[in-house]
Amino acid sequence: MTGRSDSLFARAREVIPGGVNSPVRAFRAVGGEPPFVVRGEGAYLWDADGTRFIDYFGSWGPMILGHAFPPVVEAIQQAAARSASFGASTQAEGDLAELVQAAYPSIEKMRFVSSGTEATMSAIRVARAFTNRKYIVKFEGCYHGHADGLLVKAGSGVATFGIPGSAGVPEEAAHLTLALPFNDVAAVETALAGQSIACIIVEPVVGNAGCIPPAPGYLEALRALTAKHGALLIFDEVMTGFRVAFGGAQELYGICPDLTTLGKILGGGLPCGAFGGRADIMDQLAPLGPVYQAGTLSGNPLAMAAGIATVGYLREHRAAVYAKLEKLSAAVADGVAAAGDRAGVPLTTNRVGAMFTWFFNSAPVTDFATAAQSDTGHFAAFHQAILNAGVWLPPSQFEAAFMSTAHTDEDIAQTIDAASQAFTSIAQGN
Ligand SMILES: *Cc1c(COP(=O)(O)O)cnc(C)c1O
Repeated sequence: MTGRSDSLFARAREVIPGGVNSPVRAFRAVGGEPPFVVRGEGAYLWDADGTRFIDYFGSWGPMILGHAFPPVVEAIQQAAARSASFGASTQAEGDLAELVQAAYPSIEKMRFVSSGTEATMSAIRVARAFTNRKYIVKFEGCYHGHADGLLVKAGSGVATFGIPGSAGVPEEAAHLTLALPFNDVAAVETALAGQSIACIIVEPVVGNAGCIPPAPGYLEALRALTAKHGALLIFDEVMTGFRVAFGGAQELYGICPDLTTLGKILGGGLPCGAFGGRADIMDQLAPLGPVYQAGTLSGNPLAMAAGIATVGYLREHRAAVYAKLEKLSAAVADGVAAAGDRAGVPLTTNRVGAMFTWFFNSAPVTDFATAAQSDTGHFAAFHQAILNAGVWLPPSQFEAAFMSTAHTDEDIAQTIDAASQAFTSIAQGN
């Protein structure tokens, strides 16, 4: 296939490492060249060759209302006309903070930042300061952005490329991170008993190793054990926030973490993140306390406008939005799983609301070790075949797919059809 996308990719590779600004975009795990996107509308993306794709990665999570959703576009345009940035306080920051607080009662106070990476990095700093401890616990296959101490046994691209962590991270930084298997309460008990731990950071529903739900009682155990040992519990809801429920995984499972990180949907597609939680912890931040954290573009007016339009819409249409997402997600997840069955391609389908993964794996996927047993060769062949049929899935076995409110029953039917054909060609070994 040669077309405009390919020549754009060739040009980009000359000036941008790998031609991409985030590694998984390069399609290395699935082969083929990544389409270059020209525009999006609703559930669709169009590439530089004019090909239309049904989008199941939604900019890796943010586009829950679909692309170029008119109320979001309008909010951004109006804000842009008043200037893109001030570096001074605006009413919009308080407006979005109040919307977030109403949805996440555990977040008494919060700070806005410009990415999920900044949110988790800052949450960990304040957790260390508050507890006066330095070790942190994370889980294998969870991704919390690309800060030094969080790349240990990380998910997303780190898992996709099979690298143990990252070059350039000093051993001293990695040494302060304990990486434990997800869904294993005994491992957490041992770690908390043996070491003085500042915090546990967790994706309450793992998305960055593919979708892996928490086992019943697991999050409750994390809550109880951290409280018992004086460690803080951080829910990294950058992906799950406003996705698995309006109030995130903490609403869905009824857990109150000490700190929460948000991003993705929060900014409605603009660069935005937030970290927040108990007021006594958050008041450690400068200018009130000794923990330094700052950002030139933090609380950026365009990001706040897109966030308010997105979160505000989700709140106003909450019941209808999440019911629709559940129905569409169940239909595509189950429909594709059934097509795999019919073709004799063993799949394990994990789904929590509008977040799901088809693992090319006949065994249950409950942690990174079991996810890693998946047949990534089959996944790659499936991804290529279904992309050629106009369906764009996240280009890695270790990434979750997302549904938006813009998807239609017809899109789902077309996706299941395309999947059927892809499975048949895999089963025939070509
Ligand atoms: C995407 C993601 C991040 C990182 O967010 P960026 O905006 O890419 O820095 C952190 N945590 C989780 C759970 C994520 O899914």
